Amino acid sequence: MLAENKYRFNTPKEAALSIKSAARLFGALRCGITKRDRRWDYDPVYDASIERELSWEKDFPFEPKTVIVIMTEMDFLTMAAAPSWLTDAATGDGYANAIKIAGQLTMFLRQLGYQAVASMNDLGINAPYAAAAGLGEGGRNGQVITPKYGPRVRISKVYTDFESVEYDKARTFGVADFCKNCKRCAVSCPSQAITHGDPTWEPAYSSDPDYIWNASRGVLKFHNDAKKCAKFWIDNDGSCANCICACPYNKPDFWHHRLVDAGNVIAPGPVHSFMREMDILFGYGKVNDPDRVKNFWKLGKSI
Ligand code: SF4
Ligand code: SF4
Repeated sequence: MLAENKYRFNTPKEAALSIKSAARLFGALRCGITKRDRRWDYDPVYDASIERELSWEKDFPFEPKTVIVIMTEMDFLTMAAAPSWLTDAATGDGYANAIKIAGQLTMFLRQLGYQAVASMNDLGINAPYAAAAGLGEGGRNGQVITPKYGPRVRISKVYTDFESVEYDKARTFGVADFCKNCKRCAVSCPSQAITHGDPTWEPAYSSDPDYIWNASRGVLKFHNDAKKCAKFWIDNDGSCANCICACPYNKPDFWHHRLVDAGNVIAPGPVHSFMREMDILFGYGKVNDPDRVKNFWKLGKSI
């Protein structure tokens, strides 16, 4: 339901703060606001429920101006059991929370008189929207690396026609440099879908247009072979998440980790390699460990 009268905030800053306060109440871990960017939207959008391609101009109920990006956390100890069905459960839980918050935020905006549509992985690509909203940086594993939780987050978003709002700015905290020397996700990837090379403008794994039709071409990033990843999920009879579990940024929020991360922005390559080795030494990011699955089923005694 859309309110007849539009609520007017005093300033764009107040509007941004109010939206983020509502997102926090609904359970968001992080929330960022950015302009809608056609480069990151699927076009046309395929609606599987009616088996039809939809156009933004003819079928979408309004012209989106702003995208509000929401993040929720996936459980650390459950994701540590990658690749297993447990990580599917943590991922599903993350999806459920993320879309619930996006739905609530959509209702919040509509009741202020603004058009809004909630979106999960549909309509547009979450990673570049989250990066543009200042929530993280694109990593080698193709995911958004956040300062506190690494890639261990689920992202949803809200498209709205509300635009009198202060937009967040994209920012860096050294991920692109760290990824060059780290490669733990690439080494841990059972399908070798993740590149070991440097960022490129085009996929390096294939130049066959029939194979790379789904790639985001013309974007400087780590191009990974999503089809290899999807094949492993089918072969594994479940998903995977090794590239989330192995990432050194995926850690509980201990103060000494944050200290290391803070130094990361100015640290040179050899220091990054040392930090990666220290992470391994402390036992973080281990994958394919059956004990972690067994340990999960004992966690109930802590509550
Ligand atoms: S989910 Fe698994 S198979 Fe897919 S890219 Fe990540 S590590 Fe590789
Ligand atoms: S595991 Fe290392 S290389 Fe991969 S995304 Fe995380 S920091 Fe980057």
